Amino acid sequence: MITEGERAALLKLHEWDELIFGGFYCTHCTPDDADDPDQNVYWPCPPLREAGVTNEEAVEIITVERAEIAARHRDEYRSKLEAAQQEGRRQADEWNRLHPVGTAVVAYPGIRPEGKHAGWACTRLETTTRTPAWTLGHGEPVVSVVGYAGGICLTHVDVVTEAAS
Ligand SMILES: [Zn+2]
Repeated sequence: MITEGERAALLKLHEWDELIFGGFYCTHCTPDDADDPDQNVYWPCPPLREAGVTNEEAVEIITVERAEIAARHRDEYRSKLEAAQQEGRRQADEWNRLHPVGTAVVAYPGIRPEGKHAGWACTRLETTTRTPAWTLGHGEPVVSVVGYAGGICLTHVDVVTEAAS
C-alpha cells in the first residue's frame, strides 16, 4: 500500500494531456520525441494503475481539471478585457481633455492611406468631431465626426493642426 501523499505525488508527476484525435496520454511516460502513435502511453499509465487509479477516478480527475483550466482561461480573458477597457478609457479621456467637440480632423472611417494597404481606395473626411470620444465594449476608443454615422477609431482620426506659416 502507498500513502495518500505518495499517490498525490504520483498523480502530479504523471500528468495527462489530450491527444489531437481523442484519448489521453501520460506526459511523463510518453517519450518526448514520440513520433509513432504506438509510443503514446495512455493515461492512466501503468504506474498510476499500480497506485490504484481506476477508470472512474480518472474520468473524475480529468473533469475537475478541465473545469479548472476553463476557469483559468475565463479569468485571463476577463483581466485582458478589463486592461483593454481601462487603456481605452484612458485614451478617450486624454482625447477629450485635448480635443473638445468641434475639433477639426481628418478621419479615415475605413482604411488609412498609408501602411500595407497603400494605394487602396480609402475614404478621407475633412471634418470636425461631433461627440466626445468614448469606448466600445472591448475598449476601442472612438469618436464621431460630422458626415459619418457611428464611431471611428481614434487611430483613424488625425487632428488638423495649424499649418506652419
Ligand atoms: Zn505515467
